Amino acid sequence: MKYVIVGGVAGGAAVAARLRRNDEHAEIIIFEKGEYISYANCGLPYYVGETIKDREKLFLENPSTFKENLNIDVKNNHEVLSIDKINKTVKVINLTNSNITTESYDKLILSPGATPIVPPISGIDSNKVFTLRNVPDADKLKAAIDNDKPTSAVVIGAGFIGMEAAENLYDRGLNVTIVEMANQVMTPLDYEMAAQVHEHLKFKEVALYLSDGVKSLKDLGNRIEIELQSGKRIFTDMVVLSIGVKPLTVLAENAGIDVNRGIVVNEFLETSAKDIYALGDAAEMKHGITGKNAIVPLAGPAGKQARILADNLVYNSKKPYKGAIGTSIAKIFDLTVATTGLPEKSVEDSLSVIVNGSSHAGYYPGAMQLFLKLVFDKEGKLLGAQGVGYEGVDKRLEMIAAVIRMGGTVNDLTEVEHAYAPPFSSSKDPVNILGFTAENVLLNRSTHTKWHELNEIITTNNPDYVLLDIRTVDERELHPLSGTLQMDKSEVRSNLEKIPKNKKIVVLCSGGLRAYLTERILRQEGFKSVSILSGGLNIFFSS
Ligand code: FAD
Repeated sequence: MKYVIVGGVAGGAAVAARLRRNDEHAEIIIFEKGEYISYANCGLPYYVGETIKDREKLFLENPSTFKENLNIDVKNNHEVLSIDKINKTVKVINLTNSNITTESYDKLILSPGATPIVPPISGIDSNKVFTLRNVPDADKLKAAIDNDKPTSAVVIGAGFIGMEAAENLYDRGLNVTIVEMANQVMTPLDYEMAAQVHEHLKFKEVALYLSDGVKSLKDLGNRIEIELQSGKRIFTDMVVLSIGVKPLTVLAENAGIDVNRGIVVNEFLETSAKDIYALGDAAEMKHGITGKNAIVPLAGPAGKQARILADNLVYNSKKPYKGAIGTSIAKIFDLTVATTGLPEKSVEDSLSVIVNGSSHAGYYPGAMQLFLKLVFDKEGKLLGAQGVGYEGVDKRLEMIAAVIRMGGTVNDLTEVEHAYAPPFSSSKDPVNILGFTAENVLLNRSTHTKWHELNEIITTNNPDYVLLDIRTVDERELHPLSGTLQMDKSEVRSNLEKIPKNKKIVVLCSGGLRAYLTERILRQEGFKSVSILSGGLNIFFSS
């Protein structure tokens, strides 16, 4: 069997290696248009930032080690130009000498990845504008920092690659500004979770322009001038453009293979053309939750797809890939930000809860606050989760992602069994608490008012509501909120007559727990309409 693979990085290299492990006698050829194969794109921002100092560490394999260890022929600097599906051949150009050859295949695997989106705005072709997709991009960006010693940079686009770029430029001592067209960073997060990141960026003195796009760029020789759509102007030494990626579909499209936003594949990674398969950033397939076609441009899914595809090809099996759900994580300065599944804003009629948790038992030194948000439907089926914090966000999101991927429910989260000892967790992990909190909402034992609903009540001075602020005096002094009925939580039981029974009560505390405990008291004392602020005032004040 002869396998030809287009693209030799995450998906392509992984599928090739697995094919070899499965079939010692197959002929396997990788065509890679760049110089390098099997490198860590995910490590590139950290190489620029010099957290990864040794460039060689980025390369997991090279063409000779692939030949030596796996007997795979890697033709780097070779671009596949076209596919002839009838004769089962590809046309290839050797980019070092421009020779064009034809290579036959029995099975053709497309993993060409994606390319950074570069909008057609004036000045975008300046050599002070960088993208970050591959090793040459990283080399160029790093060389510009090393040689030209810029003091400032603007990152356009606040997705996870933009944010990682921002952090690493900052680590190199540059003054960093981020410009983002949306009203928040990291669009897979809901706004109030992203707001925690906004606060952190402010704390780090990173300038953040939200709800503003770039209109034009002007290279002034020693600097670059950015004009925003709002009319504001920013002067900077360099620009990193990171507004998203576009799947590389042209090969497939020209060959008459079904392409939508990406190369359309079924659950077996089969394209519409016989014996041609696609995976990774270029492939569009059913999303693991919505069942609708989606592109999830992440390394984890690409690797898993590669294994399934290679197994199906060699063992003639039909194991399906069940679809990625977008589980991702980023280190944003000191914060960890992670998401899985769908945000609340993308699902009509979804429910959500936010919990202020602790990375491990509060009585054990070093516990750090974390925020977890859970999105679920009215039947309790889990749809998504988000986490922002310093420590322990990763494992919580991974636990929830695993449950979501298995089609789990809120009830499953209440019973998730975690590894507990005080340095690692609490006997009830924040993930369990998230499940308990969501269960309370589903069973109507607790009602959550969202941060924006509270905002509306305050700004309209809605007379139907009483905002019962049960924080301590110290907390209220630190973060004052006027127009509330104030009493310490410990005073509630003995002051019930001061709380109007004919109004809708929203109980406010900093983190949400004391408000919930108070809500339980009030409901059992005959108060008909009581709710708590989801996530507490900690979330509200930064939103
Ligand atoms: P790629 O790995 O991009 O490989 C595609 C290759 O195909 C390219 O080398 C390209 O040159 C080659 N190619 C294209 N067309 C042709 C052609 N016609 N002929 C020959 N060769 C061709 N994901 C995560 O999950 N976590 C992270 O932390 C993370 N960090 C990232 C950081 C950065 C800076 C970047 C850029 C990406 C990051 N990703 C991360 C995303 C991840 O790298 C991609 O999802 C993954 O590499 C996709 O694999 P792929 O095989 O589809 O594409």
